[in-house]
Amino acid sequence: MSDSIQPRIAVLGAVRSGLAAARLAQRKGSAVTLFDEADTSKLSRSIDAAAQAGIKLVHGATASDAVIQPGDFDLCILSPGFDLAWPLPAKFAAAGIPLTGELEFAAQCCSFPMVAITGTNGKSTTTEILAEIFNHCGKRSLPCGNHGTALSEVLLSDQAYDVLSLEVSSFQLETIDTFHPHISMWLNFAADHLDRYPDEKTYFEAKRRIFGNQTSADYAIVNIQELRRLGDLAPQVISFTSQPEHCAQATYCFRDGKFYHQGEVIGSSEHLRLRGRHNMENVLAAIAAGSLIGLDYPAMFEALATYVPPKHRCELVRIWEGREFINDSKATNLHALESCIRSLDAPIVLIVGGKEKGLDYSPLAASLPGRVKAMVTLGEIGPALQAQFASQLPCQIASDMDHAVALAADLSTPGDSIVLSPGTSSFDRYSGYAERGEHFRSAALSL
Ligand code: ADP
Repeated sequence: MSDSIQPRIAVLGAVRSGLAAARLAQRKGSAVTLFDEADTSKLSRSIDAAAQAGIKLVHGATASDAVIQPGDFDLCILSPGFDLAWPLPAKFAAAGIPLTGELEFAAQCCSFPMVAITGTNGKSTTTEILAEIFNHCGKRSLPCGNHGTALSEVLLSDQAYDVLSLEVSSFQLETIDTFHPHISMWLNFAADHLDRYPDEKTYFEAKRRIFGNQTSADYAIVNIQELRRLGDLAPQVISFTSQPEHCAQATYCFRDGKFYHQGEVIGSSEHLRLRGRHNMENVLAAIAAGSLIGLDYPAMFEALATYVPPKHRCELVRIWEGREFINDSKATNLHALESCIRSLDAPIVLIVGGKEKGLDYSPLAASLPGRVKAMVTLGEIGPALQAQFASQLPCQIASDMDHAVALAADLSTPGDSIVLSPGTSSFDRYSGYAERGEHFRSAALSL
């Protein structure tokens, strides 16, 4: 727990985690001002919450036009959605005010042990699985951080936890300084967020900061295929894999329906509701963390047997005239899309596309043969994807989700899977992946 109090703190971003950081800072004794450039109509809830907490909120054009002088604040806390390069944080930086992230600020106030989880894909699923395992095995835990409850909010709740299962994103890791998890997790890495980062290397370096303060007394649970890319790591490495050819080298492995620890069978996938090899990797990583905390394998597999996977991740929505409708709206990059289509056995009619994120879809060509029989493209990048893949397979552009589902139904035959796995984010048309997934669900259910 950090005892130093910054008398005047600015918090940028007045929605959930920003608001929680502001209240936490206030509780520690600071005078807090919240800034958010959104206008009154979008911020009505935050305006009420800030007023109730007695926190000053500067919003709309007043926030955009704010003049920040050196000495106005002692610290500026950024919500994870804020890019350091945006004009508002840049004004604080130019005035010489130290900037930090919500995660770093909250972590300095947190005395609970935590397992920090990062990766391009699988963070939320693994964070949930691990919290489920902990709670089932008698360790009070919560999935939190970038998924669910912000760390500041966890601390405000005054609940006691034995260990937190903490999802951390590259955006949060950009602004850490002392953040030091005893156990960290690196699930995988692939190109993503190229609308925010100038290149893949910058995204990678931001994520790799998760290990930055770890020492040889700490642990890193790492997908074995990532070890070379990561180079030397200070913490002790525990590796996992679902690739049979790497099984002999990895500490934990999944092969032919069985989970292994150093060659010994520790469980089976038979009773799990999770599907796909990628999810077995998430299970391996969670089990490795549970074992480091002292849990035994049978109890952990008991927890896994009752675990219900989260929505919008390769989720079966309905079976209609012999076709399975699968909602994988959370696949917001190519790596997730590929892991979904590789984990399904039936011929696929794929609904793909959404926001332009600067990603290169050419590697997808190699995953299509024998798996995807037709494609329907959607959103901002719909026409470009259609132009790219139309020579390889039947490919049609949809004007919206209802149209996409109708086209996919026409292109399919009984026995096929109709899969929404967009491979990019949803913000061209939706408020997020959940809204997009719900639209797919209602379109599929209304057929
Ligand atoms: P994140 O929080 O990192 O976005 P999620 O658990 O929400 O991860 O899953 C996002 C997408 O990635 C979903 O489409 C899911 O099916 C897929 N996915 C989950 N785990 C993995 C993994 N280990 N490797 C590849 N893809 C994965």
